[in-house]
Amino acid sequence: MDIKQDASFLKSSRKPTRYSGLGPLHTGQTAVIIGGGPSGVSCAIALKNLAQLLHQNINVILYEGKQFQGSQHYNQCVGVLSPPIDDILERQLKVAFPWYLVHRKIEGYVMHSDTQKILLTGHDEPSYSVRRVTFDDYLLQQARQRGVKVVQGRVTDLEFTPHRVIIYSDSENISADVVVGAFGLDDGGCKLFERATSYKLPRFLDSIVTNIKPNEEFLMGFGNYIHAFLPSFRRIEFGAVTPKVDHLTINIAGARVTAADMDKFLNFPPVRETLPSAFNPETTGLTYFKGRFPISVARGLFDDRYVVIGDAAGMVRPFKGKGVNAGCITGIRAAETIMKVGISQKAFKTYYRSCSDVTDDLIYGKMLRWLTIKSANYKFIDSIIDLARRDNVVRTALFNCISAHKSFKQIYEETINLTTIGKGIGAIMMSFINGNRFQVSEPYT
Ligand SMILES: Cc1cc2nc3c(=O)[nH]c(=O)nc-3n(C[C@H](O)[C@H](O)[C@H](O)COP(=O)(O)OP(=O)(O)OC[C@H]3O[C@@H](n4cnc5c(N)ncnc54)[C@H](O)[C@@H]3O)c2cc1C
Repeated sequence: MDIKQDASFLKSSRKPTRYSGLGPLHTGQTAVIIGGGPSGVSCAIALKNLAQLLHQNINVILYEGKQFQGSQHYNQCVGVLSPPIDDILERQLKVAFPWYLVHRKIEGYVMHSDTQKILLTGHDEPSYSVRRVTFDDYLLQQARQRGVKVVQGRVTDLEFTPHRVIIYSDSENISADVVVGAFGLDDGGCKLFERATSYKLPRFLDSIVTNIKPNEEFLMGFGNYIHAFLPSFRRIEFGAVTPKVDHLTINIAGARVTAADMDKFLNFPPVRETLPSAFNPETTGLTYFKGRFPISVARGLFDDRYVVIGDAAGMVRPFKGKGVNAGCITGIRAAETIMKVGISQKAFKTYYRSCSDVTDDLIYGKMLRWLTIKSANYKFIDSIIDLARRDNVVRTALFNCISAHKSFKQIYEETINLTTIGKGIGAIMMSFINGNRFQVSEPYT
């Protein structure tokens, strides 16, 4: 995406006025980060690392409203860390990857439609399943060790004045030279930024998450595979059952999914087949949690003295995640801009351009999302799985889509040619000729 052409992105009705002194951060200056998830912590650590390299003694203050230690609060996440997360931590952030937190090495995916399933494995590095709250706690500790001041509390308001930003919170109030928005899709965080700047939160999907605790024998036999579901229900775009150390995490996502959709998903026969036969959702007393996935880039995500990163920026691979990786990477790139280019609106254009791998992929992700929804609604996923069993190119494309190991652009380039299009149309025509699959799914009731 060409930044000059993306007028909505630069639209800035309540822009802070331009002032001098917006060069790279230097000794004595202060950066405040709002949010201690992967993006905020990565930005904080990268700022400290770069400042040391450039012999600048800067203050980095990070506000986090939640208490991760002792798992008192946590961020909604399935906790699957995809490659190259160890490289991002170790090479780019100089933080040791916490291998001791890994529960399982994910060896592949089982993709399900209404009536078909296929095992998808690749030759790349595996993904790792962790407990997200312990991962967040570990990263925050690493930030503290590098001299980041972590303030436990929620930021409640921001004020841009000629030469600084004032950060109001329910604990300490601070004056900073630059503020980094890393508040995810937290309603309060988004609202305070929308009030103080031209920021507008990205569009998002809702997600419902629940956990079930089968016995040890069942969990051992489950295997290190994530089961991904593309059911023909109109309201559920995708769902997954992910094995953890002592439980299974089940999640669904869609434009407006609710607890009723999760009830329906848990009774969907292909899902029931992956769960213990004795499991009964009605009598188990399940707790449901709600989260959000961004599906577009936020508007007004930078200006003089502020920049937004991670989920809050919508800087995430659309449709199927790697949100933790994207958060870390955008945090690192924002830090590089702040320390090497500056903290003005002009300087942050460098940040936006440096994220072109994510922004350029959005159009491909949108196309894939549309194709998947339509294919699921019209029950074509059965035929696509059938084709993937016979065709290595299609099978590899499905693996890369689900595992998020490659960008959507790369997947299109490797997959879409006249031969695969012909095979795809052929498979769908066959299912049409063979009868009852070409029908719109029953609307959800
Ligand atoms: C159900 C679900 C499952 C997911 N599973 C995966 C997965 O398996 N793997 C993966 O890579 N990604 C996954 N994701 C995506 C991933 O969780 C996000 O992309 C990632 O957490 C984004 O990181 P972030 O730092 O930008 O935001 P967040 O992790 O959301 O962190 C934002 C932080 O800001 C804090 N905050 C907000 N407002 C304020 C305020 N006013 N003051 C102080 N603090 C504030 C919040 O408390 C929070 O800790 C999942 C998302 C969902 C919803």
